[in-house]
Amino acid sequence: MEILQREIAVSDFFRECVDIPRFAECCRLCPNHGKLWSCPPFTFSPAHIWQKYGTLLLQCRVIPVPEELRQQTLCQQDINEQSRALLQPHKRAMLQEMLALERQFPGSLALDAGSCDRCAHCTRPEGLPCRHPEALRYSVEALGGDVCKALKLYFGKEILWGKDGHMPAYYLLLGGLLKA
Ligand code: SF4
Repeated sequence: MEILQREIAVSDFFRECVDIPRFAECCRLCPNHGKLWSCPPFTFSPAHIWQKYGTLLLQCRVIPVPEELRQQTLCQQDINEQSRALLQPHKRAMLQEMLALERQFPGSLALDAGSCDRCAHCTRPEGLPCRHPEALRYSVEALGGDVCKALKLYFGKEILWGKDGHMPAYYLLLGGLLKA
């Protein structure tokens, strides 16, 4: 696994990679929309989040897919399950690292690499509060960020997709920390 980091001005990132209406529309088509507290729609304005901070530490993790998995021909459901199993520990480790940095930099805000997967069933559909608000953080995409563009622009990395029943050579995770 490879870890890459860049620190950039939030104003630059916002100009280059944030399009809140466009990604709000994409999120509307996702089954997690309105079902997880980490996902839109929000009761706050994502633009206000970006505007509160000056610097963005972006972290990209490159997770190689083991050769024995890549050799297998799988149905889409198996690909989804295998990729989730492969990525989940990395996603959780990344969030823990960003939360630790958050404690080091008072007033900062960690960004998760994707939607929250901490509980088997989120409390949002029942209208109950999040069980773990101390660890609930939003992703770049949930706040209107273009993850594909950011990975290419800041790390020179392309997102790969599985093809013909085969998993790709690697997956990418993007998370970060918004600092004053
Ligand atoms: S921690 Fe649990 S309740 Fe909170 S957003 Fe995540 S899945 Fe939902």
